[in-house]
Amino acid sequence: MSDLTRMTATEIAALVASGETSAVEVTRAHLDRIAAVDEQVHAFLHVDTDGALAAARAVDERRAAGEVLGPLAGVPVAVKDVLATRGVPTTVGSKILEGWRPPYDATIVQRLREAGTVMLGKTNMDEFAMGSSTEYSAYGPTHNPWDLSRIPGGSGGGSAAALAAYEAPLAIGSDTGGSIRQPGAVTGTVGAKPTYGGTSRYGLVAFSSSLDTPGPCARNVLDAALLHQVIAGHDPRDSTSIPQPVPDVVAAAKLGATGDLTGVRLGIVTEFVGEGAEPGVMAAFRESVDALTKMGAEVVEISCPTFAYALPAYYLIAPSECSSNLARFDGVRFGLRVGDDGNRSLEEVMSLTREAGFGPEVKRRIMVGTYALSSGYYDAYYGQAQKVRTLITRDFTAAFERVDALISPTTPFTAFPIGARTADPYQMYLADLFTIPTNLYGGPGISVPCGLSEGLPVGLQVMAPTMADDRMYRVAAALESAVGTFTPPAL
Ligand code: GLN
Repeated sequence: MSDLTRMTATEIAALVASGETSAVEVTRAHLDRIAAVDEQVHAFLHVDTDGALAAARAVDERRAAGEVLGPLAGVPVAVKDVLATRGVPTTVGSKILEGWRPPYDATIVQRLREAGTVMLGKTNMDEFAMGSSTEYSAYGPTHNPWDLSRIPGGSGGGSAAALAAYEAPLAIGSDTGGSIRQPGAVTGTVGAKPTYGGTSRYGLVAFSSSLDTPGPCARNVLDAALLHQVIAGHDPRDSTSIPQPVPDVVAAAKLGATGDLTGVRLGIVTEFVGEGAEPGVMAAFRESVDALTKMGAEVVEISCPTFAYALPAYYLIAPSECSSNLARFDGVRFGLRVGDDGNRSLEEVMSLTREAGFGPEVKRRIMVGTYALSSGYYDAYYGQAQKVRTLITRDFTAAFERVDALISPTTPFTAFPIGARTADPYQMYLADLFTIPTNLYGGPGISVPCGLSEGLPVGLQVMAPTMADDRMYRVAAALESAVGTFTPPAL
């Protein structure tokens, strides 16, 4: 393997900026790595070789012309297939969008291009970002580089696996209930869900619009912060985008890396350290808490009783929004069309297309959501869930009056074997037990590797108040400075 694929984004950018290596060389090294390992890992749904090399060449030309390059210029990035990429296939892991080449770029993708990053391709995901293992992709599962017989998390398992397999130093994910943080945790990588509205949803294929949040994935905290800085910030094309400056997450990551947390108050969520998590996960978490305390943090336990209702509330709100959002896939406007033989009615073609194009989990969500919103049931299900959402937000607000950030294990369990949780949907939903409250509240959350359990990575989650994304980076970087980064056994 070329050394270039082992480097951090920060190191690569410095080499490109100084001219010691070219963006084209860096890109070739990663494309070679993908060619060597992705048959086993299956992190990518599409590798854009020509587009990547052209983008790299453009960076090299700008440098040669004496232009000052941005902090991530020339660094390869893998993009979850949930974001529209102009002229490059975008499937959302679904058959229903097979063959669709969007005529435009998502705002995040446009910002990545403007920053001079090099998009390698699109990564595998659970269909429409519904899942926790990438097994619900219509294109086959992604394998965890730590153990190829295990899942890499989901829905953004492709992005996380690409990082852990050294196929890309940076990746983009989207987090509706945990899809950035949970894959981060089970692959030993860093995944950050920004404040809702802190990153643009324009061009993100919608699952649950009040929860969907694109964000950065990386192998270390500083790289994630640098990527965060590039993609975040107000976008007039997204009506829920926050018109405020982005918190200085890069400065916060650097401050955290000094390993000093004096004066920082952290709250362990009582409800998440009880019976919910595996013993190995709890052991790694407890050791990390000791490390945080040694660095000067003041750690207390804080009870957030309504967090226990987050999972059921989420599984009403997210499917409700999805049942509305996915109505647009009708066989007319995008991708797949089935049964259009000139004799069938429009309704029949729509129905046949949706029957063939959506997988079982997506259909389950559409049915649950349609039921929850139906007349006579609306108040009992959707209405109640919205009330629970308000109570969860109140628990967060009350907690943040006492502490600067909350912490917990990111996931209750480490990477499980492929096939172990597909028989019972509820078993799969449990993977997001600890990540979902943050989405319902709208604040930022990050997962940072904190140790191993039986040779598999464990993540620690830091949750901060809305628009205080910098705080979570500080704590995560401090922990990283104490425990280090984690490398999977060689592929
Ligand atoms: N696993 C959760 C779900 O299936 C969260 C997915 C996500 O964050 N996109 O809904």
